[in-house]
Amino acid sequence: MFAIDSYSFKEKHALIRVDFNVPFNAHGEITDDTRIKAALPTIKKILNDGGSVTLMSHLGRPDGTPNAKYSLKPIAQHLEVLLNLKVKFVDDCIGTKALEAKTSLNFGEVLLLENLRFYKEEENGELMFARDLASGMDVYINDAFGTAHRAHASTSIIAELFPQSKFFGYLMENELKAMDRVLHQSQSPSVAIIGGAKVSSKIEIIENLLSSVETIIIGGGMAFTFIKAKGITVGKSLVENDHIETALKIMKVATDKGVELLLPVDSVNASEFSNDAQINTTPIDKIPDNMMGLDIGPKTIELFDTIIRSSKTILWNGPMGVFEMSNFSKGTLEIAQSIAKATASGSFSLVGGGDSVAAINKFNLSSKISYVSTGGGAMLEYMEGKELPGVTAIRK
Ligand code: AMP
Repeated sequence: MFAIDSYSFKEKHALIRVDFNVPFNAHGEITDDTRIKAALPTIKKILNDGGSVTLMSHLGRPDGTPNAKYSLKPIAQHLEVLLNLKVKFVDDCIGTKALEAKTSLNFGEVLLLENLRFYKEEENGELMFARDLASGMDVYINDAFGTAHRAHASTSIIAELFPQSKFFGYLMENELKAMDRVLHQSQSPSVAIIGGAKVSSKIEIIENLLSSVETIIIGGGMAFTFIKAKGITVGKSLVENDHIETALKIMKVATDKGVELLLPVDSVNASEFSNDAQINTTPIDKIPDNMMGLDIGPKTIELFDTIIRSSKTILWNGPMGVFEMSNFSKGTLEIAQSIAKATASGSFSLVGGGDSVAAINKFNLSSKISYVSTGGGAMLEYMEGKELPGVTAIRK
């Protein structure tokens, strides 16, 4: 039993693990409430059914001790505005006070517990701590995709205390559906566009995708390790020399499996890593010795666009260039637009990973993508084919 839609939470006291780890500015104001908004559908479902909602989350890294700087109290106030409903707050997540607050909650009411990471037992995954969190609660829901790759007390250990009444929240469910659509049910033709700085951080995802998609496009800084592996000089471009062998192995496996692996054919180069550097555009095998490739060139954009626009399933992780600098953002922008156009004509697109999501937001294209993942590390691990403790704990 995993889907909350097929269950009535009437007169149930529901405990929901959410990811309210949001950024704050120096004045203590929330600067991005995306993660809080992402939890609203699940909270509303429980309330509409006639249940009560107790929310628990971590915030920052208080390292196992209470610290006012990391209190969730301001989040309770913000949630009140979003829900248009009183949100109770208790300044502890376990113990008598928390238990009293949880069990005295009326149906239709919402309570937020204080930061889970004020106790080291949370990250240590201690069962006694999980028991304390679970006490007085009828059902457990995990809707914290961002921490699903951690075996913490509130994300995985606690689930075994609710063998018949544990669920994924809507956010979790949607994240998993989107990723499974690429990994296990991809409609053909399918393409994965992988970019970013370093090949070393993307090896496992590329290896796993070789079994799921028909074409892999490699862009960004990591492409230069592949290009150098092919015996082409790349000037001062970013190369991980200790991963030339890895790149060769990936290219061989791709050939063996019949997966097309596409690399940039031209490059926008700079004399130094700066937006004000001298710039030129050359074929990929003509990068001057004293320059570095910081974006894909126009021929590459055209090549990648053709593939993306004819694909039915599209995954994108990692920028095509140094998109933070205006002179090197064109490649990433154009690829984002190709994905948006393919999506508009009926393809399924999934974008995930901190920098590609930042790029999509920067270009105001998030509403034009089928699914934008909220979990950086968790998404990467799932796409690498790893088991996420928070997911397994509900599924098993
Ligand atoms: P990652 O965290 O590995 O996805 O890498 C994202 C970072 O890669 C961004 O900050 C980009 O600026 C950077 N990046 C993309 N293309 C290049 C490039 N050609 N050279 C150096 N850095 C790059």
